[in-house]
This record gives sequence, structure tokens and C-alpha cells, in this order.
Amino acid sequence: MKHVVILGAGFAGLELATRLSESLAGEVHATLIDQNDSFSFGFSKLDILLGRKTTDEVQLSYRDIDKAGVEFRQERVISIDPDTRRVTTDAGSYEADILVVALGADYDFAATPGFVESGVEYYSVAGAERMRDVLSEFDSGRILIGILGQPFKCPPAPFEGALLLHDHFVARGLRDSVEILVVGPMAAPVPITRAVSESILDALRERAIEYVPKQHIVEIDTRQNEARLASGGSISYDLFVGIPVHRVPHAVESSGLAIDGWVPVEKTNLTTRFRDVYAVGDLTALPMAKAGVFAEAAARVVADDIAARLHGGLVQRPYEGAGTCYLEFGAGMVGMVEANFFGGPTPTARLVGPSAELAADKVLFASTRRERWFGS
Ligand SMILES: Cc1cc2nc3c(=O)[nH]c(=O)nc-3n(C[C@H](O)[C@H](O)[C@H](O)COP(=O)(O)OP(=O)(O)OC[C@H]3O[C@@H](n4cnc5c(N)ncnc54)[C@H](O)[C@@H]3O)c2cc1C
Repeated sequence: MKHVVILGAGFAGLELATRLSESLAGEVHATLIDQNDSFSFGFSKLDILLGRKTTDEVQLSYRDIDKAGVEFRQERVISIDPDTRRVTTDAGSYEADILVVALGADYDFAATPGFVESGVEYYSVAGAERMRDVLSEFDSGRILIGILGQPFKCPPAPFEGALLLHDHFVARGLRDSVEILVVGPMAAPVPITRAVSESILDALRERAIEYVPKQHIVEIDTRQNEARLASGGSISYDLFVGIPVHRVPHAVESSGLAIDGWVPVEKTNLTTRFRDVYAVGDLTALPMAKAGVFAEAAARVVADDIAARLHGGLVQRPYEGAGTCYLEFGAGMVGMVEANFFGGPTPTARLVGPSAELAADKVLFASTRRERWFGS
């Protein structure tokens, strides 16, 4: 029986554990490790931010994982030795025959001076809770949504945030007193596709939201309430909302798995340069969007690759970096971005919708994963 140790029970780790249980339960034993006691979808943070759901309502408890051949452990990974596949946690250590590192991307709030002191964010559950409370007290002035670094999770999410803030202030009858501005380093909202970027820009324009492209915010001046730009200028704000700088978790950084910040992997099957070690999800260096749908699709390929190796074959369908990602436009309308990063000579993406039907699809997307991963 091979011991597969999966670090991280997010989109990638949960899908991989489920696949291994479905297809290799008698051949592998999987230990799934996460520091938290529950999972929540990235987009649930928008629900918390807007008061549509409470934190309790969006959290799916790992206690409910009940899969043949899979054991969940709530522990924090402290160190990883990719040469020996030995993992140390705050509760013990593990020797893996096959190690899969799926620890996602962390946030480096301190990378932007002034952000921790005076900014808010909705990229973490705690941040979304805090911003929800700050928002309820905010009734006039300029909201500046600043994208503080690249890459960042879910490329449309800063723009979704802006569109949903528009709805929030319309509903409170305050939209005319609030200015919403998005500032980012990208030339267009979703640089790989002009068509999707144009649709997002149109939606922003219709709601009088401006996108200021190609600007790097390097510091938040907490005394002047100004975001300082690398170009030398500055933009004033009354409420600063930051999309934080992303980085690999410390345990990954100190393991030697990452090069230039992210973990290089073989594009077709997510193997790292270390024997019997895979990396999957947001922490990889693959030139593609960081999103749950891609992490999930990559986990399927890792499961197939493990099965192929155990049975002496080759993975039938290499990773294509393909997936469909939902994008809330507000007023109950949801669009769907269909992207494929490696299936053709150049990455492709197109927007379907927005429509009310796709809003229903998004609810279904979450409930199928909930049922599949947690059996509820
Ligand atoms: C506001 C927002 C909206 C989003 N919307 C979408 C969307 O609509 N569609 C979409 O596809 N994606 C969306 N995303 C992105 C999506 O959430 C991530 O890309 C996805 O979760 C990545 O999956 P992963 O498995 O790589 O990492 P994660 O899901 O982040 O999982 C990593 C896990 O590792 C654990 N971990 C980290 N360090 C340690 C440690 N030292 N010890 C133990 N455990 C550890 C974490 O607790 C976590 O559970 C959104 C993200 C945000 C913030």
C-alpha cells in the first residue's frame, strides 16, 4: 500500500483525495493535512463581505470527510523535505511514498507599507468580515481598490468586488456619494483576453467605476490617505481596499521547492523536479490564472498520473489548464469565463453571459463540490 501525503485541503487537495478514494482506495492510503478545521470557497468571501451569508454558513467542516482510504489531520505543516518526502507538522511527522504539495498561495500584507494599518481586504475570511463591518459605516467618499501585486487569485475578483460594491451602495441609496476606483498593474482587467477585458470594462463604465491600468501601488500613506505609485504620483482615498501581494506559504519557501517565488512543475502532469513529489494549485509557477477550477482540474491529472504510475502506464489526458470560472456582475447576474491555457498554441478565454441562469449554475457548482468532497 503506497502512502500518499497531501498537504493542503483546498480545491486541489480535496479533489485529489476524492479521486484517490474513488479510483485507488485499495492501493493507496492518503493522509490529507490542513491547518484549518474547515474549507470555504474563494467566492464565499464575497458572500461574507456583502452580508449575504455568515461565516458559519460558508464553512464546510473537514470532520465530515468520510472517504475510503483517506484520513484527514488538522495540523500545520512546518517543514517539507522534498528529497526524502518527509513532512514535519506541529503534531508530528510523515514519510510519504508520494508527496503532493497543495498549500495554495498565502498573502503578504506587510509587503505594502501602510496596508495593514489602514487598509481593508476581502481575500481572507477574517478580512471579509472586517471589511463588511467597515462598509456598513461608510457612506461617502472614494473607495480605492488597489491590486498590490501579480499574480493574484481569481483575476476577475477585484472587478467583481467593485461591481458588487456598486450594488451595495445603490441598495443603501448612497451610490451618488461614493466613488469607486480600481487601480492595478495590468494593462487590462484580464490581460490574456481582450474580449473578456472589454466586457468587464463596459460593465465598470456603465456603473461609473474607473479602472486605472499599469499602476503599481508601492505604499499606503496612512496620514495623507494616499496610495503612492511607483510612477511617482499618488491617488487619494477615503477607504483603501487592497488585493494583497501573494506568495507561497513559508513551509514551501523554506523547502527549496520554489524558484523565483513559485513552484516549477512539469506542465503536463504537475510533477516537480523532486522524485515522487507533485505540486498542484495556486502555488505552482505555471503561467496561468490562479483559480480553484484550475487547481481542481490539475488535481484530476495528478490522480490519473499516480494511477498510471502504479499500473505501469502513462497519463491518458495531460493537463490543459482548462476551466470555467464564474464572475458576478451584480444585480443577480453572473458571467462565465471559459479559459484554456495550454490546450492550443496560445491561451484562449471567452465570456459567456452574464445571465440569471449562470447565477443558478454557480450555486450548483458549489453544491456539487460540497456533496462530492464532504458528502453533504
Ligand atoms: C475573493 C475570491 C474570489 C474567488 N473566486 C473564485 C471563483 O469564482 N472561481 C475559482 O475557481 N476560484 C476563485 N477564487 C480562487 C480560489 O479560491 C483559489 O484559486 C483556490 O482556492 C486555489 O486552490 P488551492 O487548492 O491551490 O489552494 P487553497 O484552496 O488556498 O488551499 C490551500 C490549503 O492549504 C492550507 N495551508 C496553507 N498553509 C498551510 C500549512 N502551513 N499547514 C497546513 N495547511 C496549510 C490552507 O489552510 C488551505 O486550506 C477566488 C478567491 C478569492 C480570494
